[in-house]
Amino acid sequence: ATKKRVAIVTGGNKGIGLAIVRGLCKQFDGDVYLTARNEELGKGAVEQMKQEGLTANFFRLDIRNEGHIEDLKAHLMDKYGGLDVLINNAAIAYKRASTVPFPTQAKDTIETNFTATLRICEILFPILRPNARVVHISSRVGVMAFNKTSDKIKNCFKNVATTDDLKTLINDFLKSAEEGTHTEKGWPAMAYGVSKLGVCCLTGIQQREMDNDDRQGILINSMCPGFVNTDMSSHKGFLTPDEGADTALYCALLPEKTEVPKGNFVVAREVNPD
Ligand code: NDP
Repeated sequence: ATKKRVAIVTGGNKGIGLAIVRGLCKQFDGDVYLTARNEELGKGAVEQMKQEGLTANFFRLDIRNEGHIEDLKAHLMDKYGGLDVLINNAAIAYKRASTVPFPTQAKDTIETNFTATLRICEILFPILRPNARVVHISSRVGVMAFNKTSDKIKNCFKNVATTDDLKTLINDFLKSAEEGTHTEKGWPAMAYGVSKLGVCCLTGIQQREMDNDDRQGILINSMCPGFVNTDMSSHKGFLTPDEGADTALYCALLPEKTEVPKGNFVVAREVNPD
């Protein structure tokens, strides 16, 4: 394996993910992987980067497919001997007008945005090198969801200490959504919001766990890109994908010995006070 540095972006075929790939190709000292669940779309996006004079590598990755993550890990170990930057960007959001029943929306959204993101971390964190950077693309909607939960659930989020506790808490949302009892139990009817709240909460827990690790200098942050013009926002967002990618790139490229942001939720390059 070479000592070359390497960066991975999930859901890199379009939107903010593609803009993050573009930025890394320009600024990151090492190889950049545009990953996507759809091979054709992913390779098309790599081709588009080439037209812009940028070189990205492709790897197929459906974040919900554990086998794909294991394949990626094996590839990274074989070719690089580790991982330096991991950007968890891939996510889904049902449209407001969707007629899919809420329990199905909740299951699908939590499984992709929270559970699959956590699983990637569980599989790839062991190969992170010292001074690696991990960025979770989260959302302010997670903060909105938090503000709409009951005081009891707010306290649960504040006191959650391990990723297992957090999984249990998020599973409580899923179970109550399934039973139709989420409102009476104090959860908001916001599957996407709860998924992103989970990701924000995960960030701090993971950083604390990482601080007890032998590997020095690893920073894990989550961020909100703002309201961005992509398919997800039905092109209503007012920021360009490149603007939306700015804080993610800032977090991915933080220099060695950085103390802040660390385990934080970052908005417009600032640690969010919420
Ligand atoms: P898009 O819908 O444009 O892009 C989402 C990307 O995620 C696509 O590449 C999609 O792939 C991929 N994806 C979805 N599910 C999977 C999966 N199971 N495995 C691999 N890839 C998957 O959305 P945005 O670019 O707007 O969103 C990027 C991130 O930013 C998300 O985390 C989103 O929640 C967050 N965000 C966006 C905001 C906005 O205003 N746009 C605001 C706040 C946060 P495919 O093309 O195959 O569907």
